Amino acid sequence: MAKDNQFVSQIADIENDFPQWYSDVVLKTKLVDYGPVKGTMVIRPYGYAIWENIQKELDARFKETGHENAYFPLLIPMSFMTKEAEHVEGFAPEVAVVTHAGGEKLAEPLCIRPTSETIIGTMYGKWIQSYRDLPVLMNQWANVMRWEKTTRPFLRTSEFLWQEGHTVHASEEEAMEETLKMLSVYEEFAKTCLAMPVLTGRKTEKEKFAGAVATFGMEAMMHDGKSLQAGTTHYLGQNFSKAFDIQFSDKDGALKYAYTTSWGVSTRLIGAIIMTHGDQRGLVLPPVVAPVQVVIVPIASKKPGVLEACAALKDRLKRAGIRVTLDDSDNSPGWKFNEWEMKGVPVRIELGPRDLEAGKMLCARRDNFEKTEVSLENAEEEVKALLSNVQTGMYEKAKERMESRIVKADSLQELLSGVNGGNFVRAGWCGCRACEDKVKEFAQATSRVFAKEDTQETCVACGKKSAHTVIFARAY
Ligand code: ZN
Repeated sequence: MAKDNQFVSQIADIENDFPQWYSDVVLKTKLVDYGPVKGTMVIRPYGYAIWENIQKELDARFKETGHENAYFPLLIPMSFMTKEAEHVEGFAPEVAVVTHAGGEKLAEPLCIRPTSETIIGTMYGKWIQSYRDLPVLMNQWANVMRWEKTTRPFLRTSEFLWQEGHTVHASEEEAMEETLKMLSVYEEFAKTCLAMPVLTGRKTEKEKFAGAVATFGMEAMMHDGKSLQAGTTHYLGQNFSKAFDIQFSDKDGALKYAYTTSWGVSTRLIGAIIMTHGDQRGLVLPPVVAPVQVVIVPIASKKPGVLEACAALKDRLKRAGIRVTLDDSDNSPGWKFNEWEMKGVPVRIELGPRDLEAGKMLCARRDNFEKTEVSLENAEEEVKALLSNVQTGMYEKAKERMESRIVKADSLQELLSGVNGGNFVRAGWCGCRACEDKVKEFAQATSRVFAKEDTQETCVACGKKSAHTVIFARAY
């Protein structure tokens, strides 16, 4: 029996050592491994399959909202980076630069893209001439590099995968509308596909993207009460169009600078899924993005007819569009239960001689461990309904948890005990940078987004009249 529990005992305690729990889970479930260069990760097939499902869902939404995919080069001339002053200042510390290639020193150093505004802006400047060319709605799926000395798989690595949308518009209103539209696309995706509730809103000047006029973000609450920025959209105004000469002749014949936006989510989302839903036994994956949605475990598999019946059930479910696997290895059922639970498979089906005789199968949910006996005859419908229940159940549970952990604070001391208790904290803020810095210093918490409603009357740091209510939290 010791063997059956070996996985559970290998994972660090989720309540007492969450960082170690996270490392144990991502390595033992074979989502990732560390790369040979510090700061790099290898995304293994089980992890990459989650990313592919995320891509598929998001890509459909981008196309539905009128965007097209394109691909721009990894290497950007250093001179492009320096054209937008705030942008280069923000990214300089983490840019990797290529100085030598082909056995010689390059005339101009090339940077490996940390993001692509500069190169895409340059191309847009060339392609756009008239109001007839607008809007331009493009997205690119790519890798980017932002130098890191430490490695936290999916959360903080030098190289990661993402998508970056880059759009150009004739008016400020249209560009702002796009910025908010994509934020709501992200929010709906997080809810529907990742079962992840998020808080969305505008970010403060301190937390905005380097070069943006305004940044909007979605923040998700992790198991330890810390916040993870799960996606951002940026209204760039004319900052980049002026730096990269994106001008168009308008209907009135006048030459005008366009308005641009950019928006992105990355493989960080996989980290967010793990830390939103995981439990002591390991991963708990939302069915929509789970690489394996259903695992069939034969019981008394040596008895005649059992394996055949399991294989037939697998074929039926597969034909119904369900991602299903049959574990016909010679490990014990208990061992298999532990392994597939650790890997977060949403539904497990147990099928043995007694079930077959009764025309039934036993389904176990990963999210709440509920077991139900259902008729084999309606297997396809029953399993689909169950997967859908798991998906909504996971969202409801995460939402209740997040909502019960948003507290308010009227003083720095209250804010500190709020974040110490693993909460998001609503607090008033006068709007000055010094007060934001003071919160950071006092409570190691940062402003995440402006709250939807201004409920707090005084600034949590200085006691003066507050201009905004802000959600503060410790963040990944
Ligand atoms: Zn203040």
